[in-house]
Amino acid sequence: MFEGFQHYLSYGSTDQQTVRDLSEYFNGLLVPGTIAAFQAEGTKGFVLSLSARSAEPYVIDSRFPLFQNRLQRPKKSHQMLADLLGVPSLVSQFMTPDPNNFSDATIEQISSNWIDFNVGFETVQTKTFDKYAARLGEKVLPENRQDPLYILPPYTMVGSAADNWESVSQRIWDASQSYAKARSVDDKLRRVIAASSAIEWDRLASTSVEQEIVAWISNLDEFKLTSEAELVQYGQALTSAMGRGQRVFALYGGFFSVLLSRYGLTGSSHGIGFGEHRDWVELPSSGAPPARYYVPRLHRYVGVDIATTIWRQFPELVSCDCSECNNDSPSTLDYHSLMRHSVRVRNKEIAGWLDLPSAEVSHLLDRDYLAFRAAAQSLAAPANVAKKVEESCAHLAMWSRVIQTLG
Ligand SMILES: [Zn+2]
Repeated sequence: MFEGFQHYLSYGSTDQQTVRDLSEYFNGLLVPGTIAAFQAEGTKGFVLSLSARSAEPYVIDSRFPLFQNRLQRPKKSHQMLADLLGVPSLVSQFMTPDPNNFSDATIEQISSNWIDFNVGFETVQTKTFDKYAARLGEKVLPENRQDPLYILPPYTMVGSAADNWESVSQRIWDASQSYAKARSVDDKLRRVIAASSAIEWDRLASTSVEQEIVAWISNLDEFKLTSEAELVQYGQALTSAMGRGQRVFALYGGFFSVLLSRYGLTGSSHGIGFGEHRDWVELPSSGAPPARYYVPRLHRYVGVDIATTIWRQFPELVSCDCSECNNDSPSTLDYHSLMRHSVRVRNKEIAGWLDLPSAEVSHLLDRDYLAFRAAAQSLAAPANVAKKVEESCAHLAMWSRVIQTLG
């Protein structure tokens, strides 16, 4: 996760087929704790058989900020994750959770249970392993299955220095380190630093002695024009971290995170079909992604109908030569092809953009922005469709400005 640019996929149980088909197009899997807790056997069978096939690394993210919310309608997966951590009362239905209520005993319980869960993750029933191994269509030996690459102890989303959640995060980290030492797995711990803004993240990272950090800035939407200042701050925070010798992997990131590699980011994870950013307040709601088409030159998903409209009149703007698309209309792709196409394109984006000089990056983004804007203005389509096309490209010019500012 901390060398070159590592492309991870956030695993959801609906994506098994895509993940199985495309293992040479990504570097590792990020398994949400909610899914690992709720669909424990199936997730294990799937992840472990894959790890045995190609030594595909994976890590499990605790999704702990979920428990900083009042969960009015908790899902079964939320309760099962809390149970796994040994503290069922983490699911707070009637009150907003209070950081001051985390006793030392609770902190220790959460920390040790999470480490035990990670260490024991490779224990799976033979029949479960065999069932998932058979779906891979090749011989996979159970003894080749892997432990999680790293253990990411639970962490909290920190809003500000005045926020008592920072100390909860610190105490979980400290307790995890002592427990991991006792179990001789302390070299596997990597810290997640989660903050509600890039400036806050910068402050937390600058006080951390850890050299390899996983980052999450809540709700940083790389497509929103209002994110411009924060994307600059994110780039600056990464540059500072790199200056301190820290290597940083992003828990959530779209194409813009690939561009951030030039300021030190060593990789990012994205959901298949969605998941470029995540707001911790929205963590409780998740589900299967809608069927949308990832437009390579926009580096974003748009509705299949919109993509098809553009393709008919300006095929060069949306067509893709990957083996799912073959330059054909986006409307010909079924759900899984849409998903596979998006993973293939990200793989190609990483190969094509990672080493470009910043001036070239800005130039290409501006070029594509102008091409889409011109197409929107001459598109034979209802006004609302043309407006959507025009709006869908505005982030390209914004990204170009961010890269120019960061240099
Ligand atoms: Zn394609």
